[in-house]
Amino acid sequence: MIPPDHPRYRQLVVRERLARCAREGIVALEGLTAHGRAEAFDYLIGEKSTATAREAARVAAALLLLARHPVLSVNGNTAALAAAECARLQEVTGCGIEVNLFHRSEERVRRITRILEDVGASVLAGTPERLIPLQHDRALCLPGGIGSADLVLVPLEDGDRCEALRAMGRTVVTIDLNPLSRTARMATLTVVDELTRALPLITEAYRGMTRTEAEALVRGFDNHYLLQAAIAEIVRELSRALD
Ligand code: ATP
Repeated sequence: MIPPDHPRYRQLVVRERLARCAREGIVALEGLTAHGRAEAFDYLIGEKSTATAREAARVAAALLLLARHPVLSVNGNTAALAAAECARLQEVTGCGIEVNLFHRSEERVRRITRILEDVGASVLAGTPERLIPLQHDRALCLPGGIGSADLVLVPLEDGDRCEALRAMGRTVVTIDLNPLSRTARMATLTVVDELTRALPLITEAYRGMTRTEAEALVRGFDNHYLLQAAIAEIVRELSRALD
């Protein structure tokens, strides 16, 4: 039992949840190391959504608003951490949700689908096909889902698939606390923020946005500039750390 007055109560609860989800086969063991890296980067950005993250979340909302067929790609960590936030994003934006896993088994897909459906999400189903040119199982996707999406929102992505999706001409929006990852640099747009903070920011930005505003935001953004700004925020945060 974690005492609620522990200074890192929230982080400890999240760790406990991920460990339980790993034991239940929802999160891959490798997903725990990815979370550890994310925790470290979250420390570096001060465990809050920065001004740059907020700006990127607005651009993400604009891209979603202008997309013809946007699909949110969910893996084990995303479902364990942010199922309700995914459902809320879908409710507001109407995006599709598809389960896509590096360590794929039908049982894991079923469990992750159940977590999402339990919080009201509607998850795309069908027979996946190898539509993305990759050697591993993230190549598998649904023809009516990621297979035909013009925009794929892929939180906590691996660089390989991001690169393959971009080569297929897709718009790729990612959420990744590491501004140096291959994914962050390959994506059309990267929101450098923690998943459970970033998804609500995108959802809220979408709610009030008009098409004209979205078109202006999409015309004016530069992912390289946003990543440099995110790194500058980390440097500023570090320089203040011991003040
Ligand atoms: P790349 O191939 O893009 O360089 P990687 O091998 O560095 O990827 P993975 O091990 O696939 O990265 O981990 C996925 C990424 O997701 C990591 O960069 C990590 O920082 C990020 N991540 C994990 N959990 C969260 C979270 N809760 N919020 C935001 N980002 C996260």
